[in-house]
Amino acid sequence: MDLGLSADQLEIQRAVRETCARFGDTYWREVDERLAYPDEFVRAMTEQGWLGMLIPERYGGGGEDQKQRYLPGIARGELRLQAFGVTEPDAGSDTTRISTTAARRGDVYVVNGQKVFTSRVENSDLMLLLARTSPVPERVEDRTQGLSVFLVDLRDARGHFEYQRMDIMFNHHTYQCFFNELEVPAQNLVGDEGRGFRYIIDGWNAERILIASEAIGDGHWFVQRAARYASGRELFGRQVGANQGVQFPIAQAYAQVEAASLVRYQAAALFDAGRPCGAQANMAKLLASQASWAAANACITAHGGYGFAREYDVERKFRETKLFEIAPVSNNLVLAYLGQRVLDMPRSY
Ligand SMILES: Cc1cc2nc3c(=O)[nH]c(=O)nc-3n(C[C@H](O)[C@H](O)[C@H](O)COP(=O)(O)OP(=O)(O)OC[C@H]3O[C@@H](n4cnc5c(N)ncnc54)[C@H](O)[C@@H]3O)c2cc1C
Repeated sequence: MDLGLSADQLEIQRAVRETCARFGDTYWREVDERLAYPDEFVRAMTEQGWLGMLIPERYGGGGEDQKQRYLPGIARGELRLQAFGVTEPDAGSDTTRISTTAARRGDVYVVNGQKVFTSRVENSDLMLLLARTSPVPERVEDRTQGLSVFLVDLRDARGHFEYQRMDIMFNHHTYQCFFNELEVPAQNLVGDEGRGFRYIIDGWNAERILIASEAIGDGHWFVQRAARYASGRELFGRQVGANQGVQFPIAQAYAQVEAASLVRYQAAALFDAGRPCGAQANMAKLLASQASWAAANACITAHGGYGFAREYDVERKFRETKLFEIAPVSNNLVLAYLGQRVLDMPRSY
């Protein structure tokens, strides 16, 4: 398999890097201190077309109306669809246990329930919401049935939808959401009623490849910062990076990041070719999140006490990168997928 990037992909990489370079350490440090949303960065990425680039230019088949209504606005950056409500207080890893309900009444569904960790709600016009449209089936193997996905227009939800920002360890805008008799037009049901879990799963591989890529980016950042700092600081008459106790963890993390990157490219190539990629996408997410965390640890250790000083940015990235091991799916669940779905071992859930 050819894992080299095409000319188009290299051009995308160059252009994205160019945009990101306009938002340096000072920008992110300041946004972090204010716990603010990075509006300027998101605007720049939207204006360059990167946030809407996966939206097809032509739409066809089922759901044409829905796509025509929303996708052009999303592609132009006028409508923000950035919120995805799945997780609930009693249903995190076990998605099929969600209890938020959507009951059909005439030409609307009435939503009641609560979500947690729904990111970017305040910066979204639309939310994709997973809700139960029929009771939890008795048989474990049927539990994926009866869930449906809705496109909720948050602009119409006033009075029936409330949210509260969660106080978490880094500047990620995530919220608790409360739905009280919220009416969602039946035409905003995505696909068929009861098949929502299947639609969510369809997006999982792409999401895992995306998260792996984010973690790999962070991993490279940590390795570069660690190597640069360790090469510059002198102690006991030599550069601190000359000590194997400092140098080897950085080199080890670099090897892990590069290995994860290869699996990520393999997963992405399979995905682009429309071939099964569940195993590769899950392995990429697992390995990349572990590599990034190893790199984060090597980096903060190499910096010693300065790793804790905000002006070096390491502590901020350290707090951020831990997330990749936990969300959008925890690594335990990824291992369970590999053990049970790929290696055919007994189920644990
Ligand atoms: C910053 C942030 C942003 C998020 N954004 C969103 C969002 O936008 N939308 C959304 O829907 N969700 C979001 N989430 C939620 C995230 O997807 C969940 O936190 C994640 O799926 C884990 O669920 P949980 O927190 O309920 O942990 P739990 O499911 O309670 O798991 C707790 C621990 O037990 C382990 N565990 C559970 N079951 C098993 C098992 N069978 N075998 C082995 N180990 C197991 C898990 O690995 C985990 O370590 C976000 C979370 C965070 C922290």
